[in-house]
Amino acid sequence: MKLIKNYINGKWVETNTRRPNINPSNTNEILSEVCLLSQEQVLECISGAVKGQKRWEEVGIEQRSDILKKIGDELIANATEIGEALAKEEGKTVAEGKGEVYRSGQFFHYYAAECLRQMGDYTKSVRQGVDIIVDREPMGVVSVITPWNFPIAVAAWKVAPALCYGNAVVLKPATLTPNSAYLLAKIIDNAGLPNGVFNLIYGSGSSIGNTIASSPDVDAITFTGSYEVGQQILSEAHKKMIKCQFEMGSKNALLISEDADIKTAVDCAIAGGFTGTGQKCTASSRVIVESGIYDQFKEAFVKQTKSLVVGASTDSNTQIGPLSSKSQLETVISYLEEAKKDGATVLCGGETLKRNTPGFYISPCILGNTTNDMKINREEVFGPLVCLIKVDSFEEGIAVVNDTPFGLVSGIITQSLSKAMIFRKKVQTGCVSINLPTAGTDYHVPFGGMKGSSFGSREQGTYAKEFYTQVKTTYLKP
Ligand code: NDP
Repeated sequence: MKLIKNYINGKWVETNTRRPNINPSNTNEILSEVCLLSQEQVLECISGAVKGQKRWEEVGIEQRSDILKKIGDELIANATEIGEALAKEEGKTVAEGKGEVYRSGQFFHYYAAECLRQMGDYTKSVRQGVDIIVDREPMGVVSVITPWNFPIAVAAWKVAPALCYGNAVVLKPATLTPNSAYLLAKIIDNAGLPNGVFNLIYGSGSSIGNTIASSPDVDAITFTGSYEVGQQILSEAHKKMIKCQFEMGSKNALLISEDADIKTAVDCAIAGGFTGTGQKCTASSRVIVESGIYDQFKEAFVKQTKSLVVGASTDSNTQIGPLSSKSQLETVISYLEEAKKDGATVLCGGETLKRNTPGFYISPCILGNTTNDMKINREEVFGPLVCLIKVDSFEEGIAVVNDTPFGLVSGIITQSLSKAMIFRKKVQTGCVSINLPTAGTDYHVPFGGMKGSSFGSREQGTYAKEFYTQVKTTYLKP
């Protein structure tokens, strides 16, 4: 049995408390066992990271850049092998798994270049004969807490900038998908970082999460996951008043304008609603359709959705893999049942499926006859379940898009430039897609949401430095 170990202060650490890692496409298969740490071991790891960070600060930006480049190279060179392993433990298709690993490599390449672009500002003081230098310093030890749905990409887009700007990292991945982070750590281990700069720790959020958040040696926390856990972390972190950056829940909407090209609308609704089995923070789980195009869109969307192939993540025909866990499957079913009681109509899917191997398979589901005030349209389901909401006008459509406590992504399908620009301006989301699926973002520009979807400064691109650095202003009289 493959053993997944922790990586602390440059060493692989085994423990006797272990948890099986089950393949969601074949629940008879235990892929590996992960070693879980105690709270004391977590604290030891964090104090090692404090020393590691001092060593890392001494490493010049060119060498840092080379190390990040090497990590990116290795991820891209091994995208197929790691992507397959990722798909096996998370449930997404192999194509999606490979794409995720490739993209993770690009994050490291991007921040390898950013290492060499860490310019400060120089200016004159308002006081005669005084100069001013404004530059940035690392935060120190950054705790990175990641979810299971993008187990390498989310880690990569947080770890790469953290290292780029001179921080040490303590990465705590989701317990459900330990192998993906382990494979990333193996690559980082070979890249030549000083000991203690990068650390990987395993343990359930409920047992070690509080230890991380309350540790006096953690200087900043970046987290992606549920709103509730974000609140728990914040309540601890606030006591120490440390910097936090959270990406949390969402309830993204795609608005189909009555002038939309039907093929684009259907392709985007499918890509945004069902890829990754709907388990994406950028998924468009609400599709709001203007009444003039409702029937035509509904018919085409249902027809194409019914043709999607659900199967094992490693099967080359599969378009939609299983859900990631039994609890995720139960959650989706329970939301579906409640929506039906609230008056929603199942237009297709929503059935658990049997395949050659036992897994958490469910057919992609479209619900009609839903209104925005139903629970199904208020809370994040995280599954292949899309609700259609009919509206009588473009203006009503925008109002429904914004009628949610969340604000990560919104999208519109329209052939009208004017509608697209009005939409872009009026929606209360951090990201906007026009004639594109809501899921799918670039790595060189900011990512994040408004309202309850995010907390703190933006991730990715040059904006990441707001979180991973602190600013120093120096007044100098030569
Ligand atoms: P969680 O928020 O529970 O978990 C995300 C990460 O936080 C995991 O590493 C988890 O560890 C950790 N964690 C859990 N509790 C604590 C804590 N008290 N302190 C510190 N860290 C903690 O998300 P789930 O994985 O349980 O998913 C639940 C729901 O969250 C999903 O159905 C979805 O709605 C939403 N979600 C949203 C994501 C997004 O991208 N916006 C991503 C993932 C989930 P562990 O795995 O060990 O519990």
